[in-house]
Amino acid sequence: MIDFRLGDEYEALRKTVQDFAQNEVAPVIGGFYEREEFPYDLVAGMGRMGLFGLPFPEEFGGMGGDYFALCLALEELARVDSSVAITLEAGVSLGAMPIYRFGSDEQKRRWLPALCAGEALGAFGLTEPGGGSDAGATRTTARLDDGGGDWVINGSKSFITNSGTDITRLVTVTAVTGQKPDGRKEISAIIVPSGTPGFTVAPKYSKVGWNASDTHELSFDDCRVPAGNLLGERGRGYAQFLSILDEGRIAIAALSVGLAQGCVDECLRYVNEREAFGSKIGAYQAIQFKIADMETRAHTARLAYYQAAAKMLRGEPFKKEAAIAKLVSSNAAMDNARDATQVFGGYGFMNEFPVGRFYRDAKILEIGEGTSEVQRMLIARELGLPS
Ligand SMILES: Cc1cc2nc3c(=O)[nH]c(=O)nc-3n(C[C@H](O)[C@H](O)[C@H](O)COP(=O)(O)OP(=O)(O)OC[C@H]3O[C@@H](n4cnc5c(N)ncnc54)[C@H](O)[C@@H]3O)c2cc1C
Repeated sequence: MIDFRLGDEYEALRKTVQDFAQNEVAPVIGGFYEREEFPYDLVAGMGRMGLFGLPFPEEFGGMGGDYFALCLALEELARVDSSVAITLEAGVSLGAMPIYRFGSDEQKRRWLPALCAGEALGAFGLTEPGGGSDAGATRTTARLDDGGGDWVINGSKSFITNSGTDITRLVTVTAVTGQKPDGRKEISAIIVPSGTPGFTVAPKYSKVGWNASDTHELSFDDCRVPAGNLLGERGRGYAQFLSILDEGRIAIAALSVGLAQGCVDECLRYVNEREAFGSKIGAYQAIQFKIADMETRAHTARLAYYQAAAKMLRGEPFKKEAAIAKLVSSNAAMDNARDATQVFGGYGFMNEFPVGRFYRDAKILEIGEGTSEVQRMLIARELGLPS
């Protein structure tokens, strides 16, 4: 039988994160956003709550939960703010997860405890200035030096989340390490600790949204790291990152649902206060229908990510469901942000109200971790259509 009720532990987590978002994040995040400042204290608070360790085993400093628990936390955070939510999403699913999934025991013991505690952040460097959707076109190279003791990395990566904070400890990058027998590029994943000579973090970007999250371009100029920093098998880097992105799409879907639901929350408050033509605007059917549509989108998108997560946790193939969840959820976030801004009228265009922030934060959800076009390509491929 199908049962969509959350178990007690999931429900308790959801409630705890909801309280944190409303009581700790909501009062201060607007200021961080305006100042384009990374909210270190909030990140430390999420660390103390164990959010960065949610899906990892206790032996590595994690909470022993699962990926769905992470998704619930992301949804509740993004209901209030997406910069904080993406910092957690990228820290866990892009920073720590590749090390947990593909790292050696030594790599896990070295890196995971601080990442799980939220005391350190890891980043994931796949996208390059020359292209993100076509990640196989990677131009960054890594060659073993003559003695075979070090990788020497050259190239650059674009738009890398969590890569330049004071607590960023590492970035895992994809690089071409040779050629396969069939002539294709051999791409491997390599861990580069922050501060390694030859590894430069550019000043932060000026962004449309996610303004309290950390994003930089990275460059590598004869950057040397030990040969042992190879993550997983040589030549498997591309496949590893694609599988990390499949999971990450469920997390981004959850974050998108949070933003979509946050739009409903804000509108429900506002339309019962704001008056026009002698009535609360919530009495007008045009406004009610907008809010009903917003709730419908958030609800259906939530079902899509719950189902994708359920398949993933059961160990079943979930590529198509994750792409569908990301596609519908990011659409829902965009549509809801546009409608919520409309409901707020002129105040929707003012940064002092969260819906303005939601509007600016929604667009990236149709771009990051695979654009909407890429999701459609994946869904079509899973349906057996030629690629
Ligand atoms: C704030 C932010 C944070 C990010 N964080 C990270 C990060 O931590 N790590 C990381 O590696 N990357 C990160 N990214 C990069 C992000 O994943 C890429 O921007 C995204 O995958 C798209 O790649 P692109 O920007 O190169 O666009 P392109 O790949 O150049 O695409 C341009 C347009 O062409 C379309 N397109 C491309 N190919 C096709 C096709 N075959 N058919 C139809 N349409 C196509 C795309 O859908 C898009 O509309 C981040 C980006 C942003 C903006």
